[in-house]
Amino acid sequence: MSDDIHKLRPDGMLPSFLRDEIVAKMAYLDENVASVTQDASGELHFRMRRPLTESETETFNQRANRVIHTLVSTSRAPRITIIEDYLDRPVPHADNPMNTLLAEGEIVQTGHGLYALGPLVAGLCHELESRLFQLGRSQGATPYRFPPMLPATYLEKIKYFKNFPHSLSFAVHLRENLDLIERFAAEARCQHDVLTFPTESLSGIRQVLAPTVCHNFYLFLANRILPRDPMVATAHGTCFRHESINLDTLERLWGFSMWEVIFVGSATRVQAALEQATRASSALMQEFGLAYRLENASDPFFINDFGSQSSFQNIFDLKFEFRAKLPFKQTTLAVGSRNYHQDFFGRQLQITLPDGSPAHSGCIGFGLERLAFALLAQYGTQRDAWPDSLRTPITMNPERLSSR
Ligand code: AMP
Ligand code: ZN
Repeated sequence: MSDDIHKLRPDGMLPSFLRDEIVAKMAYLDENVASVTQDASGELHFRMRRPLTESETETFNQRANRVIHTLVSTSRAPRITIIEDYLDRPVPHADNPMNTLLAEGEIVQTGHGLYALGPLVAGLCHELESRLFQLGRSQGATPYRFPPMLPATYLEKIKYFKNFPHSLSFAVHLRENLDLIERFAAEARCQHDVLTFPTESLSGIRQVLAPTVCHNFYLFLANRILPRDPMVATAHGTCFRHESINLDTLERLWGFSMWEVIFVGSATRVQAALEQATRASSALMQEFGLAYRLENASDPFFINDFGSQSSFQNIFDLKFEFRAKLPFKQTTLAVGSRNYHQDFFGRQLQITLPDGSPAHSGCIGFGLERLAFALLAQYGTQRDAWPDSLRTPITMNPERLSSR
């Protein structure tokens, strides 16, 4: 790979609260972007897989400025409200656990943003998941199981394509046509990791890989009058978000596991339930010994009016995140979030309360690999150094695999 660096100085200074967001979004400008950094002066440095031609450079710079302009002109500095702060809790580990996990064969990368987890990390995820399910049950939830896909028509209806198009992944299959299937069988081969074949053999896209768990519950309740207030579900699912070159270690995966507790009902009941489930989640994080902070947040809306939607979430305290400390890079990482959607899904999907008004909804979700990763970053990969709450209950004996 050539090491071609393309530099771009944005017109005007970028507000510091938007820097990370802008750098992350630069990944989607062009397929040739291999990595993006920003230097202290604010200049963006793109490492390109191949040098851009003169005309490509012009288009590239226009795209970059378009994204920057949209983000800067529509965003306001968020008001950070810290609800709880346990970031200074002393934790014993300071190194990046990825190095040990890979070197000792505890995890194996199987693709971009994809890792197979061996017994140590899988055991930890399993324990976290069962404790989270218990938490869900303690909040009055009953368990549900959902498919890993959502109908494209549903995502269109809730405007997902307009707000988060960049990270979508799609489910397709071969068309039911014997000639095309035979042609596929004869011609399909991988070239540089990419499967090439006659594209006319592919079906249309009716299903999209689910980016989050709770949507399937709203779909489950669509066009119904709720029999109870609130309806409470707890579920686990594999979620997919293609975050391009930002996919990195266990922190950010293309396919990851999410556990959620989901509330659908009247505004007052949903908000009270969210409050109570947040307190239970905080208690659980403390039991795990996690160094974290709970603060308000907003979603990374992309193309469509990023700022106004994020500011809306910020002003009305619709989203909060549990952000765990990553000691090896002195940053925090969102391991869980609490979201209040007001009556958005109730209205879009005709989920109604007995009085005929649209239902409100909210959820709390934790990414299991992320939570496991944060705990490994804080406590290391030796189980004897883990807090008792994580160590004792695991019944499986995670035999350590020798290096391969
Ligand atoms: P969100 O719906 O964006 O608030 O995400 C909920 C939780 O899912 C986050 O707090 C993370 O723990 C997890 N998560 C989101 N995106 C990813 C990803 N790409 N890889 C791993 N975990 C993720
Ligand atoms: Zn959710």
